[in-house]
Order: sequence, then structure tokens, then C-alpha cells
Amino acid sequence: MYRDHTKTVKIGDRVIGGGNPILIQSMTNTRTEDVEATVAQIRRLEAAGCEIVRCTVPTQEAAVALRKIKKQIRIPLVADIHFDYRMAIAAIENGADKIRINPGNIGSPDRIRAVVDAAKERGIPIRVGVNSGSLEKELVEKYHGVTAEGLVESALDKVKIIEDLGYDNLVISIKSSNVMMCAKAHELIADKTPHPLHVGITEAGTLYSGNIKSAVGLGIILSQGIGDTIRVSLTGDPVEEIKSAKLILRTLGLRTGGIEVVSCPTCGRTKIDLISLANEVETMVTEFPLNIKVAVMGCVVNGPGEAREADLGIAGGQGEGLLMKHGEVIRKVPEGELLGALRHELENWNE
Ligand code: SF4
Repeated sequence: MYRDHTKTVKIGDRVIGGGNPILIQSMTNTRTEDVEATVAQIRRLEAAGCEIVRCTVPTQEAAVALRKIKKQIRIPLVADIHFDYRMAIAAIENGADKIRINPGNIGSPDRIRAVVDAAKERGIPIRVGVNSGSLEKELVEKYHGVTAEGLVESALDKVKIIEDLGYDNLVISIKSSNVMMCAKAHELIADKTPHPLHVGITEAGTLYSGNIKSAVGLGIILSQGIGDTIRVSLTGDPVEEIKSAKLILRTLGLRTGGIEVVSCPTCGRTKIDLISLANEVETMVTEFPLNIKVAVMGCVVNGPGEAREADLGIAGGQGEGLLMKHGEVIRKVPEGELLGALRHELENWNE
């Protein structure tokens, strides 16, 4: 089922599925029991553009903390539960807007029923998550290894358990660190279920490899019209996940807004410290809610051409740069003042 046709699911005050915009999620890496640290991190995530946040709930104390955390944040809060069904119920009772469970590790049917009943009573969705690392032995044997087909069967089995309990307020996630297997699993399951899909490449790695794997995997999946909410998983500051997720969506044309920075790779013609400047510009532009393109180019050979196509641009020279706006050179600026000159233009942007 492609994103225009998946069921809509309400998570707090946000809606996913049914063609609604793809929402960006992240997960805190603080101790959930530490309310102050968790709220501080969620606020940084909110400021970066996170739209749904997940916290792990391994203890009763963490479940109780959810209530306090929720009062201090603006985005929906999802509780991540492993193994202990009592934590799922406690999280629901303490105001979680959604819970993420793998019914396979929650235990007996009675325990799953208790969790489903609690979610049903409050009308909160359940994300059914399966992960290639914990695929059932029978499915590994049936498919001769961990495969996309096995992951899909596992996910649909779990969904059926909950549907049979009379609840279909569901989101599905299938995670694998094998990018191509993950993409294939999403293609297969999209044809088989109307439930919205939460998409991500799990255990993708550090900033460098995680970003590349996530961009490739999410690119393949989202470009086929599959996926209703995403998370880029990175070993690092979760704020980086939000920056990457936004860029992936924008690159795929699935989201507009924000300043796009293009910069040249630099070469022997570059006579200014363009690498530092481009990085500084990329960080600076996140402060401005504009929908424009900024070019940071190293020289006057190709630079002006590229900068001309952008709304605002710099073409570097010898210790200076040309500042360009809508294809016209506005003025020459000494290298040390280029960042400030760009900032000034953005602060006064009115067209
Ligand atoms: S824009 Fe100029 S400095 Fe940058 S890569 Fe092209 S030729 Fe080199």
C-alpha cells in the first residue's frame, strides 16, 4: 500500500498515513528516568525539526517520567518497550502517545492482550516493530537465512496477533542494517498491508556510514511512494538524525522549505578557505526559515555561473569573493567578511 493509500494514524496531535506529509522521528539517548536531561534533549530535537520523539521505557521509573516529560515538550512522545508488558501498560497510563513493541518479545497471549486492551482504551496506536537481528528461528529456517520475505512474514504475523484482538490502530516497522534487504522488505510489505510504515535503516552506523546507508535505503524506499514516517539512525547526537532526515526528504522532493546550500568540491583554482566557509554557511542557514538556494563556489571560472542560478551566492577569488544575488554581482567582499555578508543578506531577505 503506497503512502497515499495507507490508513491514517493519529499520534498525539500529528497524523501519519493516507498521504499526509512524512514525519521525522528520532529517539533520545538520555536515561528516560532523568527527566531534565531528556526534556533538554527533546527540546533540541524539536528546535532541529523533529516531529515525533521516542524514549526507551525499561523501568517503572521511566514510565512515570514520561508524564513529566510530556508536560514540557510539544511533540508526540512514543514509548519504546522491550520484553516487559507491564512497562507498556505503565507507559500508556502515563500518557505515551504511541507505544512501540515487538509482540514476539512481549510474552504470552494474555500479556499481549493486556497491552492491546490498554492501548485500545486510550485509543493510542501501537507500532509493531520487527528487526532482522531478532527474526524468529522458524522463519530463518523456512527462508534459509534472514531474508526480506522472512521479515515481512514476521511483521505480518505480529500485526495479525493484534488485529485478532480487535485492534487495528497500527504502524509497522521493519528494520535491517542490510540496506538492500530492508528496501526489498518494504517493497514486499507495501503490497500486503494498509497500515502506515515507519521506515529506517537500523544500526546504520556512525555519522558517515549511517548517513550514506540511510540516504541510499530511504531514497530507494521513499522514492517508490512507500513510507509514512522516517528515522535516520546514527551513532551520535540525535539532532544529527533530524538534519539528515530533513535533507533526505528535501532531496527526494518530499518536503520543501529551508535553505538549500550547494557548494563546489574545490580544486586547484580555489584561493579562499572554501571548505570551512561552506560548512559555516550550512550551519548558519538553518537559522533562517527561507525557501531559497545559496551557492558557495570556489572561483570565478565556474563559480559565477552556479552562483547565478542560486538566489544568493559567493564566487571566491584571491582573498575575496563576489557576492551575488539573483544572478547579479552585488559587490566584492574580503574573504574574512563573506560569512557576515551572507548573513546580512539572509537577515534582510525580502524576495
Ligand atoms: S567552482 Fe572553481 S574552484 Fe570550485 S571546483 Fe569549480 S573550478 Fe574549482
